[in-house]
Amino acid sequence: MNYYVTVLGSGAALPTGVRRCSAQVLNSNGFKLLIDCAEGTQDRIRYNHLKLQSLGTVIISHLHGDHFFGLPGLLSTMHLCGRTEPVTIVAPKGAREVIETTFALTGNHIEFPVEWHEMDFAEGMQRVFENHRCTVDAFPLVHSVPTYGFRITEVPRGANKPRVYTYCCDTAYTESILPYIEGSDLLCLECTFANELAELAEMRCHLTAGQAGRLAAKAGVGQLLLTHVSARYREPDLLLAQATEEFANSVMATDSMRIDV
Ligand SMILES: [Zn+2]
Ligand SMILES: [Zn+2]
Repeated sequence: MNYYVTVLGSGAALPTGVRRCSAQVLNSNGFKLLIDCAEGTQDRIRYNHLKLQSLGTVIISHLHGDHFFGLPGLLSTMHLCGRTEPVTIVAPKGAREVIETTFALTGNHIEFPVEWHEMDFAEGMQRVFENHRCTVDAFPLVHSVPTYGFRITEVPRGANKPRVYTYCCDTAYTESILPYIEGSDLLCLECTFANELAELAEMRCHLTAGQAGRLAAKAGVGQLLLTHVSARYREPDLLLAQATEEFANSVMATDSMRIDV
């Protein structure tokens, strides 16, 4: 039974030669879920030998470009490659208008149907997607625009305990999310800045590595996956060390890494 994540992009804001911006694919027993879609994601999909047309469900945390600007291009390429099956998109309110306006004003179009689920809530946790392989529950994070974390639970075959993957990117430090990230087998948190830049992290609504580790420890998760690394850190060993001081079982994401939940 497969339940694993392929990291397509692990960098924050600015893509570099080493780290592209946010995108991941969760594979739940053959069903693939695209999580965030930064510019260049379709290139990373091909680079990692994932089949473009198999990514028919996309969940977007927020509409900042480093999580969202790849979506029009991805949809356009799906159309050009002959897609007829629907695509499901879960995203904060406003995404649909951006995509539909982009296609309307640029003379591009897509012929397959898009099933939209726009999120527009400020508290609690809501089920935003489910099928026979996984369920996705969304909850609000604290960021400069409406942003959601996702708790993705496997639908197990047989009587096995379902594994949980939780993705939070981007967010400021808040313990309000603890009930939603609690007990995850694998928790993915952003760690944009080192501890020395805590003030900047707070100002820009991001986490330091130490804060990410602290949240993982308080939530009692199995493993912490650190992502969304600022381009200023060429060697992010410092970030991993600072997170590990708070939570020992931490790993740093790298582009094209595959990690079991
Ligand atoms: Zn970001
Ligand atoms: Zn952001």
